[in-house]
Amino acid sequence: MEKDKYGIETSISQPAIKLFKAADIDVEFVKVSAEKPDPNRLMFGTVFSDHMLMIHWSSARGWERPQIKPMQNLSLHPAVSALHYAVELFEGLKAFRGVDNKIRLFRPMLNMERMLHSARRACLPSFDPKELLECIKKLVVIDREWVPYSNTASLYIRPVLIGTEPSLGVKIATRALLYVILSPVGPYFSKEGFSPVSLWANPKYVRAWKGGTGDCKVGGNYGASLLAQSEALTAGCQQVLWLYGEEHYVTEAGTMNMFIYWTNEHGEEELVTPPLDGIILPGVVRQSILDLARKWNQFKVDERPVTMNELVKAIQQNRVTELFGSGTACVMCPVGRILYKGENLHIPISQNGLKLTTRLLESLTNVQYGKVESDWACLVI
Ligand SMILES: *Cc1c(COP(=O)(O)O)cnc(C)c1O
Repeated sequence: MEKDKYGIETSISQPAIKLFKAADIDVEFVKVSAEKPDPNRLMFGTVFSDHMLMIHWSSARGWERPQIKPMQNLSLHPAVSALHYAVELFEGLKAFRGVDNKIRLFRPMLNMERMLHSARRACLPSFDPKELLECIKKLVVIDREWVPYSNTASLYIRPVLIGTEPSLGVKIATRALLYVILSPVGPYFSKEGFSPVSLWANPKYVRAWKGGTGDCKVGGNYGASLLAQSEALTAGCQQVLWLYGEEHYVTEAGTMNMFIYWTNEHGEEELVTPPLDGIILPGVVRQSILDLARKWNQFKVDERPVTMNELVKAIQQNRVTELFGSGTACVMCPVGRILYKGENLHIPISQNGLKLTTRLLESLTNVQYGKVESDWACLVI
């Protein structure tokens, strides 16, 4: 049986019957464009652009024509399976206004393919990922004035696919809706630079497990993480460091992939992140950091499991140089402290001034904001 690159059998996916094409898009424009916000005062995900993309699917008819419409509420039957059984998934990527005033996406096909992977896991219909990217580009072109004029802000793109089966039966949806909304977002860190986060490492709650959905961006994963996040806050930490198994494997931090830059037990300088073994979300930034570090070829780069015991020992022996999370929202987010088994483990950041974190961040943002040419940049307009 054929499998995708994450090991899911591709035949599980719903047959799409008729695929949608970007060339068939119908557009209905807003009458008056809303006022654009000041990008420096934005709360993440609270302001939305003028238009959205909507594509309906049914098992009987396949995909309908894509529609770009004024941003609006959805009208859904109260029984739809997305609301009852979390038959839904989402993506997150950004459009950047470059120093040349052109608008770019960053490796967007990785998001499209990951969305297909999530769709297979949720038994939602498949689609042509290239056509979805073309539809998204058209939407961004129409709402291009919503891409902030800033080299730290961006336009967050949120594709969603929901099961709209109007029935209480727990079964594969025969109807679905794919939509995409756009939200201008400000800089993640202030002008003063990085502010390292603190992590609550506690095995009490588990984010993902083998055979589960941790490697998919399905909504249920995130709703189920909120209680752990609130306990982290109560414990005086900003985010959860998700552990796995008896060995307390380090997996992810909040909704970020985790990286450790250290001198490993064999005395080698190494950048290490947990492998894509089903419990790790295959982040686009994660992949890009690995690709860059391997290209630089200046230290060892590895994808392998790391336990809390190994990490604690390394911190105590002063072998951890930098510890950071990665994701589209922040790009890079340094970690300054971990609370584990009642003890605060501090990562001394003053020593080298976050050299690797800064270098990676600059390399990635240089591509995003068009400061350097790269085939990772996808030109929109
Ligand atoms: C989205 C996400 C990430 C980061 O993925 P990017 O593609 O780099 O933004 C990491 N972990 C989890 C759990 C996520 O949901």
